[in-house]
Amino acid sequence: MAAQRVIIIGAGLGGLQCGYVLAKNGYDVTVLEQGLQIGGCLQTYRRGKAVFDTGFHYVGGLGSGESLEWLFKYYGLDSLPWVELDKDCVDRIVIGDNSYSLASGHGNFVDTLSASFPAEREGLCRYISKLQSVGDTISSNFGTGETMPLFGMSAYDFLCDCISDPLLRKVLSGASLRLKYDRETLPLYIFAQINNSFIQSGWRLRGGGSLIAERLSEGIKAFGGRVITRSKVELLKETDGRITEAVDSDGNLYPGDFFISDIHPAATLELIPEGGSVKKVYRRRISSLRNSKGVFTVNAVIKPGVLPYVNSNVYLHSEDADVWADKGMSLMISYAVPDDGKYATNIDLLSYLDFTELEKWSEGKPMRRGEEYEAFKRAYAEDCIRFAEKAVPGLSGAIERYYTSTSLTYRDYTATPYGSAFGIMKDWRSPLTTVLSPRTPVENLLLTGQNLNLHGVLGVSMTSLYTCAQILGLDKIKKEFGI
Ligand SMILES: Cc1cc2nc3c(=O)[nH]c(=O)nc-3n(C[C@H](O)[C@H](O)[C@H](O)COP(=O)(O)OP(=O)(O)OC[C@H]3O[C@@H](n4cnc5c(N)ncnc54)[C@H](O)[C@@H]3O)c2cc1C
Repeated sequence: MAAQRVIIIGAGLGGLQCGYVLAKNGYDVTVLEQGLQIGGCLQTYRRGKAVFDTGFHYVGGLGSGESLEWLFKYYGLDSLPWVELDKDCVDRIVIGDNSYSLASGHGNFVDTLSASFPAEREGLCRYISKLQSVGDTISSNFGTGETMPLFGMSAYDFLCDCISDPLLRKVLSGASLRLKYDRETLPLYIFAQINNSFIQSGWRLRGGGSLIAERLSEGIKAFGGRVITRSKVELLKETDGRITEAVDSDGNLYPGDFFISDIHPAATLELIPEGGSVKKVYRRRISSLRNSKGVFTVNAVIKPGVLPYVNSNVYLHSEDADVWADKGMSLMISYAVPDDGKYATNIDLLSYLDFTELEKWSEGKPMRRGEEYEAFKRAYAEDCIRFAEKAVPGLSGAIERYYTSTSLTYRDYTATPYGSAFGIMKDWRSPLTTVLSPRTPVENLLLTGQNLNLHGVLGVSMTSLYTCAQILGLDKIKKEFGI
């Protein structure tokens, strides 16, 4: 019997992982990617010797027995050149003139912060123990539905319940820009999973995120599948309640038995003509969901031998910054791992950027948005560099040249609405409408990727299992991953 055909739209992390699992299990897999490069938010680009990450910068939980390790082992991603971040300071949180370390290892984390906040030791222990117990559910409760109540609890209320000192609350939320932490809506599950994995351990990838995408793509091909770039899916044809084929912008037809979309759910529904199984009410529901903000990035090439490499991330916040309340200035500073391990070669500065600031250029084509847009980016970049000087003295003078990208860049390269960095925002007050199932009203069309459940590399990797379970069955997935 011929293998069943699976067509996957989008070669982001979710699409590639689903392709890998299904190709390994005998399905005839084709991944279609609109861009020249695969990876979506894992893409890198090269300028001279410098390799810049465009999205992903580090992961948590890659140590033995931790949250991400068992998933990465399955895909052979554990053997990529990962570099562990400083155990005593994975993230340095700078608020105004003060600096705090978020260490790895749960005990180390509590001890380090208790040194600055001795009265909060007991609260920190409660905080950490809850994070650990939520983190442990990621695999142990896979497919049971038992994690759903955690989507119905408020992250901010939990933080306030454990920690009385407002400054320590800021520090604990400090490894974040103003993209995803919304005081009113963020569910505990998301806050806990992400923070728990980074408290377990933090890791950078020497050579950048595209290595992850390439390794997955090699795997898909080795199992007989294919990954096709420059193939933008423009239509999903529906007949009798099933998608029958995907049609790309060159008119190529890709018939399939199953279709998996790794692109934003709202963009997915736009590919399906009205009048079929997807009712207007479902379309309205999906398109009305709120998305996270986008990012402004400065990718800076550093003059040789000038700035020491720092094996920690730096999150810099102005004195008045509050990531929960959309206030003040916040910046993430990330160093690429240099070959010599000593001097920085390239540094990325990431800041949030509201799409409304870019609206007037949104109709323009990439690279051709005009001088006013270029001037806006230069001014924003100079602000970021000046601000970063506070944590990295001498940065301005050390920069040889820099490149910038905005939410418009992300929108154009990954097709996320408004260039949102982390996709659909979940709301603990209405988890049933904001946490999406991989199933759609069309029987053989499934969703995957960061918009469904949990964003980031860990979240997308878990969601890929949920999506594949719809085809292979839950028991098969559990057996395959040893859950
Ligand atoms: C700036 C930034 C920083 C981040 N930093 C981190 C980090 O440090 N650690 C971490 O864990 N996570 C980080 N993330 C999040 C993480 O990178 C993402 O959650 C994850 O990579 C998303 O994967 P995905 O599969 O959901 O989709 P995407 O990466 O969005 O991939 C979707 C793919 O679909 C393609 N596509 C779109 N439309 C079509 C179409 N019509 N036809 C064909 N192909 C199409 C796109 O080109 C893209 O390649 C970051 C994200 C951003 C934006």
